[in-house]
Amino acid sequence: MSLTSLSTTDHSQCAEMLRRLNARLDGTGTRVSIPSQRLDSFGFEMAVEAAGEKRGGITFAVEAGSQRLRDVINKNVTEQDLLAATHNAFSLGWRRMKLYFMIGLPTETDEDVVAIGELAERVLSCAREAVDPKQRGNVSVTCSVGTFVPKSHTPFQWQGQVPADEIRRRQQLLVASVRSKAVRVTYPDPRSSAIDSFLSRAGRAAYEVVEGAWRRGARFDAWSDCFAYEAWLDAARAQGFELEEVVCTDYDLDARLPWDHTSPGETKGFLQREWRRALAAQTTADCTRASCQGCGVCPGLHTHNVIVGER
Ligand code: SF4
Repeated sequence: MSLTSLSTTDHSQCAEMLRRLNARLDGTGTRVSIPSQRLDSFGFEMAVEAAGEKRGGITFAVEAGSQRLRDVINKNVTEQDLLAATHNAFSLGWRRMKLYFMIGLPTETDEDVVAIGELAERVLSCAREAVDPKQRGNVSVTCSVGTFVPKSHTPFQWQGQVPADEIRRRQQLLVASVRSKAVRVTYPDPRSSAIDSFLSRAGRAAYEVVEGAWRRGARFDAWSDCFAYEAWLDAARAQGFELEEVVCTDYDLDARLPWDHTSPGETKGFLQREWRRALAAQTTADCTRASCQGCGVCPGLHTHNVIVGER
């Protein structure tokens, strides 16, 4: 049973929920899992709760290989955090670690791509040092490297996706830069990420394309053996546009966006400010841990940011 949400481990009562669920499910053959662990002591408490005695694999979302790029995307995680968590995990009995990364983030360079592999190798060395020398051969690190998909109502909503051919080149660059056989790199077909982007960025015409792709035989596209990219391209052409153009085009900061008439509460001015800060690699504090950053959600939705209990 997986407790999934956008950010499960940010729930202030997550460890308590895991404790209670595990107690309730004890002896039923059912295990509880959470998608990825936070890199702090609270995250660790949850990892221990979720894993119980079976410490096979543990997952951390690092997102970018270099500190510069982690600052661009406001991922408040340092290499030190990751290595400390690695040491803890492998000392406590874990033997496999999965790290989530993304390729194609705004401002990404080849150095940032290679940095993913370099970081994974440092994690592997740290993990090996934390275990008994006889067990070092069992230690492995998997980098699951997704393709960045720009999403509406985020500071990256104006940014087009990196074209599929260039994503493929960066994936190959990463694979070639990893030397250790104990570090595995997995990544999706960049064309399927282009469909994700299309569904995220296209306007009303997207529904005609979804139906058109279905009429052309597209089914279960998330399964690689069923993925029918040509059906999507044809369906987009039938509506008068090239799917890859919609996916890869940058919007001007003052452009009217297809989703501007909807809002989860944040102001456009806040997103524009965050976009400029991202380009300058300036981080913004998390308002659930620091002061209000003025995103507009609380006044816009007439609500208050209330955190229950210690985090
Ligand atoms: S406290 Fe509310 S308005 Fe302020 S940054 Fe957080 S969510 Fe936005």
